[in-house]
Amino acid sequence: MAYGYDGGWRSAIDCHLRFLSLKGGRVSALTELYGEIALCEDCELARHRTRVVPGEGPEDAALLFIGEAPGWYEDQQGRPFVGPAGHFLDELLRSIGLRREDVYIANVVKCRPPANRDPLPSEVGACRKWLDRQIELIQPKVIITLGRYSLAQFFPGDPIGKVRGRARNKEGIIHFAMYHPAAALHQGSLRKIIEEDMLKIPSLLAQAEEVEEEEPKPQQLSMF
Ligand code: URA
Repeated sequence: MAYGYDGGWRSAIDCHLRFLSLKGGRVSALTELYGEIALCEDCELARHRTRVVPGEGPEDAALLFIGEAPGWYEDQQGRPFVGPAGHFLDELLRSIGLRREDVYIANVVKCRPPANRDPLPSEVGACRKWLDRQIELIQPKVIITLGRYSLAQFFPGDPIGKVRGRARNKEGIIHFAMYHPAAALHQGSLRKIIEEDMLKIPSLLAQAEEVEEEEPKPQQLSMF
């Protein structure tokens, strides 16, 4: 974990401030947001959590992976994707030459649903503001939705089996849908599909960076 966060809102804030003081920096907007998320009690999930799982990664990450909700391991550690699905995600990232420290990893809901049940629409709705703020602050070039809950945040009603592996532009950000890594752990036949979809990400990123570079530069008016 980037900042040594070990759970609890006091710890979250302390650790991020410690990180910042080490760097000699100011408190960033994303760090302030972690503090707000750590205090959130806007749905029932807050009552059941051990630790809130805000997400982690570079504040200016080009790639943002969004899963569904923390599971048992994540709830214990306060970090996203650290259980078996996370190990597979690490492996997938390595397959394209990345480490998890190179990307931002978040979830649709920031607290673990009891017994890993699906998050309720009211819980997803209550948590949506945090994800929106993360996207606003990070400004990723590519958003990779992992699983149908994450996909539904951006393209409600789209069947994942039809749209996975396809990139779409929405509000200036490339959105790429993949099956959730945990799906491969339950249904081995999906593993190859997930691995193949992952291999498409580097070229999407390259495309996004190219588009950015091609944006017209402001014309310098000649003085003469
Ligand atoms: N599954 C998710 O969707 N998110 C996690 O953080 C872990 C497992």
